[in-house]
Amino acid sequence: MTEEKKPLNFVEKIIESDLKSGKITTSQTRFPPEPNGYLHIGHAKSICLNFGLAKKYGGTCNLRFDDTNPEKEDIEYVGSIKEDVKWLGFEWDGDVRYTSDYFQQLYDWAVYLIKEGKAYVCDLSADEMREYRGNLKQPGKDSPNKFRSVEENLTLFEKMRKGEFADGTCSLRVKIDMAHPNMQMRDPVIYRIKNMPHHQTGDTWSIYPSYDYAHGQSDAIEGITHSICTLEFVEHRPLYEWFIENLPVPATPHQYEFSRLNINYTVTSKRKLKQLVDEGVVDGWDDPRLPTISGMRRRGYTPKSIRDFIDSTGVTKVDGVVDVSQLEFAVREDLNENAPRAMCVMNPLKVTLTNYDIDKTEEMSAPVHPQREELGSRVLPFTQTLYIDKADFQEEGNKKYKRLVLGKRVRLRNAYIIEADKAIKNDQGEIIEVRARIIENTVGKNPEDGIKAKGVIHWVSATQNVDCEVNLYDRLFTDEAPDAGDKDFMDCINPQSLQTLTGCKAEINLANPEEELPYQFEREGYFFLDKCLDKVSDVATDKLVFNRTISLRDTWGK
Ligand code: ATP
Ligand code: MG
Repeated sequence: MTEEKKPLNFVEKIIESDLKSGKITTSQTRFPPEPNGYLHIGHAKSICLNFGLAKKYGGTCNLRFDDTNPEKEDIEYVGSIKEDVKWLGFEWDGDVRYTSDYFQQLYDWAVYLIKEGKAYVCDLSADEMREYRGNLKQPGKDSPNKFRSVEENLTLFEKMRKGEFADGTCSLRVKIDMAHPNMQMRDPVIYRIKNMPHHQTGDTWSIYPSYDYAHGQSDAIEGITHSICTLEFVEHRPLYEWFIENLPVPATPHQYEFSRLNINYTVTSKRKLKQLVDEGVVDGWDDPRLPTISGMRRRGYTPKSIRDFIDSTGVTKVDGVVDVSQLEFAVREDLNENAPRAMCVMNPLKVTLTNYDIDKTEEMSAPVHPQREELGSRVLPFTQTLYIDKADFQEEGNKKYKRLVLGKRVRLRNAYIIEADKAIKNDQGEIIEVRARIIENTVGKNPEDGIKAKGVIHWVSATQNVDCEVNLYDRLFTDEAPDAGDKDFMDCINPQSLQTLTGCKAEINLANPEEELPYQFEREGYFFLDKCLDKVSDVATDKLVFNRTISLRDTWGK
């Protein structure tokens, strides 16, 4: 489907209609992460949507850190989020924004609400507040402090700001309606006391605004036209609108909700991902088994494959779960088209060619990509001793086994056809070497005697290759819905999610490996060079390690 012919999603329809009616002249969106963890594939959906709309309609999109909760936030997350957004291929408008840039304005507007008789300082504890709030069946009741004088409220709020009260002593609430059917409207708290420094504002503040209070006003300050969030905020929309109506804000943004991205066999919640990291189940936020953007990057996912996947999931108002194979399909498609080819033998078995001179090296030529001539070719040294994969040799074969068998022929990819004569075993009876012969004059040709090879296998020279390690990943969870219902996702960890193979032998060209794209290791899958940082020093080690992005075919569960 071409870009033009694709049907519009509901947000695009709204924007097109707003542009047409003249309600807006240009669209302004924002991506508002809270810097309390690394971004994950769910955030990628919000990023693609918000930045994608800006691209499509010639508007702008801001990156705004929703940093109202210093307790859980960290500057490390700010850095990683910026890197991830850029890596995904998007550019924010102007400087990075922070909700904390607006703390003074938000405070002034809170004072305005107090003066208007629409906000009050409440002394109820968190427990009491819960009790006073009522529930869906029962109305709540007014706080005993609801009718404090404006003067008293102003004095108390000023004291809150100055850090004269301990955390939790009191809070600032807006006066709406304790009997409102929407619980969010029952005098919500808009400022809490937190006597703690903030990663952007230092010691300036002892009170911090709530998400609900800060978000819409930040949108208004930035001139956001379409404030897009996920469905769980539907209930918050009336409050969002209440603030916009009751404050002298410079613009009137609107909130729209879409369904969040859920993927089976995956958890997409920063809190849960943090637990996996903190408890050492995985090796940091960029562990290639995690659905974090940094983990996927380290695994070999390309920005395009992630964008294509997100595109394939659509933007709707209906909650659902996407099959993880849809994500795997997207990366396979992209890599099949773009990944350079290489050969790597994971479980090496030595082959000695008894009719090949020990001093001889022939340079075999192989395409970097079979369908893309423009990428050129690579040189593979062919020598008397080679490695093939243990799984590619059997003493006796059968019809299905199209690899090397005693007395039979197989083609070495991009090189000769060979025939196996003898298997050499160690004392335990394990095959440690195969003696074979090349069939002369078969590079790129069928044998003159007409006896064809049964199949094609990959190989590397045993004397001219590079040693490497390979990480094979499997799904991190054994359960397709690891955090559904009252399940504990920590109970569904796949104990075999990582298998490391050492002593693998890759073709000599990988001595200077490609750093941008995974390779297709022929017949094996797609593999991406790991940065291999030392855990303690964070300095790159000289070990050559490849992470399996994805196998060649979807064989999961088969
Ligand atoms: P988490 O539950 O993982 O902490 P969050 O929604 O609290 O996610 P934020 O940093 O507040 O994380 O999210 C930034 C933006 O990304 C929000 O607009 C949020 O709606 C959106 N977002 C988060 N998770 C998803 C998801 N799974 N699908 C689509 N959008 C998401
Ligand atoms: Mg959040």
